[in-house]
This record gives sequence, structure tokens and C-alpha cells, in this order.
Amino acid sequence: MDTPRVRFAPSPTGYLHIGGARTALFNWLWARRNGGTFVLRIEDTDRERSTQAAVDAIFDGMRWLGLDWDEGPEVGGPHGPYFQTERLGIYAEQAEKLIREGKAYACYCTRETLDAQRKQAEAEKRQFRYPGTCRNLPYDPSRPHVIRFRVPETGSTTFVDLVKGPIETPHEVLQDEVILRGDGVPLYNFGAVVDDVTMRINLVARGDDHVNNTARQILMYEALGYPVPKFAHLPMILGADKARLSKRHGATSVTAYRDMGFLPEAVVNYLVRLGWSHGDQELFTREELVRYFDFKDVGATAGVFNPEKMAWVNHEWLKKLSDEELARRALPYFLAAGLPAADDAKLRHVCAVARERARTFGEYVQQFRYFYAPIQLDPKAKAKFLTADTKPILEAVRAGLAALETLETEAIEKLFHSEAEQRGLGLGKIAQPVRVALTGGTASPGMYDVVQILGKEETLRRLDDAIRLVG
Ligand code: GLU
Repeated sequence: MDTPRVRFAPSPTGYLHIGGARTALFNWLWARRNGGTFVLRIEDTDRERSTQAAVDAIFDGMRWLGLDWDEGPEVGGPHGPYFQTERLGIYAEQAEKLIREGKAYACYCTRETLDAQRKQAEAEKRQFRYPGTCRNLPYDPSRPHVIRFRVPETGSTTFVDLVKGPIETPHEVLQDEVILRGDGVPLYNFGAVVDDVTMRINLVARGDDHVNNTARQILMYEALGYPVPKFAHLPMILGADKARLSKRHGATSVTAYRDMGFLPEAVVNYLVRLGWSHGDQELFTREELVRYFDFKDVGATAGVFNPEKMAWVNHEWLKKLSDEELARRALPYFLAAGLPAADDAKLRHVCAVARERARTFGEYVQQFRYFYAPIQLDPKAKAKFLTADTKPILEAVRAGLAALETLETEAIEKLFHSEAEQRGLGLGKIAQPVRVALTGGTASPGMYDVVQILGKEETLRRLDDAIRLVG
């Protein structure tokens, strides 16, 4: 096998999509596994739809996922950067070469003529194909023209896709397509092929929405005298309803998952499993992925995107981190929510109690904001647990806690137990009103942890508030 030279070639017309990120990841893994080269090429020839913001969003998403590129924008050196709009001279040169060799030709048909032919085809209910009007006309660059690729009229092109197996395309379904517009901008198939040739790409892995372009591209590689790369067409990612993944199914941009508090390790882990498997294993470190990944283990059926499963994977990843690491990485999410957290013992304790209970940093913030902000009292919990009956319990616990010198677990435990015993009540009957007073609701980590995290002063203040509320 040649050392892989692979590429990810996004069009910068939006954010980095889950599907695009998976394509990038598979290419990156293959390059890293084999000591190959991963090229990032920005296919920005559609000037109307391409934006700098989208280019930045792609960089941002890839960096966050840790998918570093060896050649491409910002790498510099003799190879990068690769932006198609900066390479127009190369496409023009290659198109001229094809004309000289009779493999392409100038087409002088006006838009009006072609539109009329297209309408005619529509009226006759047949598919429009360019009729080859200019196929044999001499080349006159001084006349306005586009350049078309000459497709053989007979025969077929076959390739063996690494994922889909052999695919044959009869040439009669193809047409002499435009490869270079009058303004010198290449059409997608030609731009991609010229780039693959000049960047010496030997394996093309991309979404299977491009599978129908492949035969035409193979004819172009051949026309340019380049050994045809291998192809791996990756099945589209679907939503739960088996429709192609779209915004309807939830967030589809990679960085939206960053903003929700997913770890990049977990997103990579989840993405790779959308179409690739290694036995029954679900959780993979990056090193394992680099060791195991192979296109031969990519399935031909579409992966279904399941946000719940992704949250599960994230939870598993979060659970592996130490309290220190969790706190360090959770902090920006608390701060972004406007909560006065710091990378300190309190946040480490919050993370320690959150680790089994919450699956993303977004859930950390949502579930545990009361450690940093006033409680939001759940009216039902209030009605049930902050009552004249529970007031004496709140008062007794308040007094007991106030008398403690330090908030050691054993001391708090002893206090709650003795209150329960003295009143002949179960421990829950003591803990629940306190829980509502301290957290605003009926579900929270253990009371001892809550008291310790809030600290004595804040705990007493909240108990006082609750006692006052009962009246
Ligand atoms: N710019 C194309 C896309 O984003 C690239 C397809 C390819 O990888 O050849 O779909």
C-alpha cells in the first residue's frame, strides 16, 4: 500500500456539520494510522455561498476535535495553503492541456441556446443532455466560451468502492459536462480532480452523496494521466426517522456540542461509531482509534444519529476524568452561564457529586446552578416539604449545624441521625425538607455533600429563608 495521502475538502458554506466532521475524522485516522498525510482543502469556488465565517467555523470545529492537518490552510511551507480560489491558474492550465490533447473542448453555446434546448427536453419529458454541438469546432479562445470535458460515448467506468463494492457507470448516462466556466472558475468535479492530482491524493473518502460523481471524476483522472485513487464513500448519517440528518433532528454543528458541554474525546468517539465498528467495543481512546481504524470496517448501511447515545458516551468519558480535571474543564461552562464559579475545592466537590448524575457540562450547570445562585423553589416541593410540620425540623437542623465547628461528614451525619431518632422519623423525613430548603427541589446529591459544598454560612442562610417562608 502507498503511504496514504488523503484529504478533507469542505465547501465553506456553513458550520462544520456532524457528517463532515465524521468524514474528516475517518480521513485523519487513516492518515495517522499509516504515517500518511492529511490535507485540508477549502473548496470555495462557489463565491456566493462561501464565507470567511464558515472557513473559520470549519477550522474551529476541526481544532476542537483535534483533527490537525498536515497540508492546507495555515500550514504554510511549500504545500499549503489550499484554497481553490487561489488556484485558478492551475485549473486553467490543466484545462488547456486537456484541450490540446483533444480531451476537452471549448463550447460557445450561449445560455439562451442551452436554456431553449433544456426547455424543449422538458416539454418532451426527457432528461436534458448537452447535444455535443461544439464537440468538433476549432478552439478559438477569443470567443466567449466554457470548457467541456469529452466523455466517451460508449463503454463504462467501473471502480471498486472500499465501502460499497464494485460500481459500474455506463458512459451513455454521462454527458460532456462543463469543467471550467467562462470566468475561469472550475466546476466541482474538475476542481476536485485537478486538486487531487496535484496534491497526489491516493484515497478519496467522502460522503456517498458524491458517489454519482465518481465515474466522471475517474475519467478526468485518467485524462490527466494520473493513477485513479481508491474511493471510500461513507453512508450518509440519518436521524431517528431515517431521513437524512438535518436541523430537525437537533443540533448538527460540531461546535454546538462543544457549547452544550460535550468533550471532544467523546464526540470523536461517538462520530467514529457512526458507520465504523471494532467488535462490540463502544469506548475508544484516540490512540486505540488510530491503532484500529480501517475503511474495511466501515459498514455500508447508514449510521443513525442518536443524541441520547452520544450523551451516554460523553458521560462515560466524563466519568474517567479526575475531579481536578473535571473542574478545570467544567469551569468555562459555569462562567458562561454567569455563575461565579472558580477552579477551587468547591467546584471540585460539585464535580465529584455531578459525575454520576449529569452527562454533559451543560447538565452540570443546569442541575447544580443552586450551588452558585439563589435557589429556584419548586412550588410543589415547597407545598409538600416546607410546612408548619417540618418547621421544627428545619429549626433543629439549623441549630445543630450552627453549633458544629467543622462540617465533617460524620458530624453532619450524627446530627441528622439524632434528629430522626428523637422524632421517631425516618432519615428521609429529616433530609427532605432540608433538601428543599437548600436546593429548591426534591432531587439532589446527598445532604452532607450539599451542606459541605454550600458551606456553613450559606447553608444557615438558606435554612433561615425557608423557616421564614413557612412563617
Ligand atoms: N466540496 C465537496 C463537499 O463538501 C467535497 C467533496 C469531495 O470530497 O470530493 O461535498
